[in-house]
Amino acid sequence: VVRPKGELAGLVSVHYPTTRFENMVLDKATLKKLGRIVDEHRNREKLAAHGLSPRRKFLLVGPPGTGKTLTASALAGELGLPLFTILLDGVINRYMGETSSKIRLVFEAMKKTRGVYFFDEVDALATKRLIENDVGEARRTLNSILQLLDEDDSDALIIAATNRPDVLDPAILRPGRFDRRINVPRPDLVGRVGILQVHTRKVPLSSDVELEIIGRGCPGFSGADLENLVNEASLLAARQDKDSVAMIDFEMA
Ligand code: ADP
Repeated sequence: VVRPKGELAGLVSVHYPTTRFENMVLDKATLKKLGRIVDEHRNREKLAAHGLSPRRKFLLVGPPGTGKTLTASALAGELGLPLFTILLDGVINRYMGETSSKIRLVFEAMKKTRGVYFFDEVDALATKRLIENDVGEARRTLNSILQLLDEDDSDALIIAATNRPDVLDPAILRPGRFDRRINVPRPDLVGRVGILQVHTRKVPLSSDVELEIIGRGCPGFSGADLENLVNEASLLAARQDKDSVAMIDFEMA
């Protein structure tokens, strides 16, 4: 088990996810893309024999709660790799003026420890003014990440996620910077029903609960919203001392 030590401990958190793609609901095209990535990494020695290397740098784009973090976890889980989450806000607040050198430490760690390295909400860096007098630190952090990303030739998988492609710095989207951009939209009806199924697997449901009807009633819900709905309904049912979730109160959501 890898544990970040010294300075690195304040820059990244590490988990060994048990998440698999079967725990998430994604549209077919996205699942296929992710499946290919996993295959490439599982077969990287074979690829290397042909002078090829697996794709490693990904940009996940989608609204909050649609499963970007879960996707990073599932990639790590499928490949049996540790998931390192870079604590960007913490880095900027704690190491004002030296964020670039701290980010460099993270990229040095990638060379030593293969894993999935997850940079969440990189869009925030492009627009954030963290404190008065500080216009530049967040942007400098973003620029360091992009420069180090371009230079990186480790074996690590690097995933950046953003909720706001509309405000995203054009520099991030520059062709060739990421090997793949993966869109993670809000689920459609089939997706919503699938996500409700995943999250009610362990919930005792009464026979008159029809997830299809509930899914129809929740247009625009993200995976996280649907998970919340199931949790709230479960709590409500438990409070009413019923042993099944027979009622879903739409106003709660
Ligand atoms: P994001 O990183 O896009 O903001 P998360 O991955 O943190 O979203 O999602 C939060 C939670 O919502 C997940 O842990 C999961 O329980 C649920 N969820 C989100 N998207 C999905 C999905 N596509 N399939 C199943 N559950 C999902």
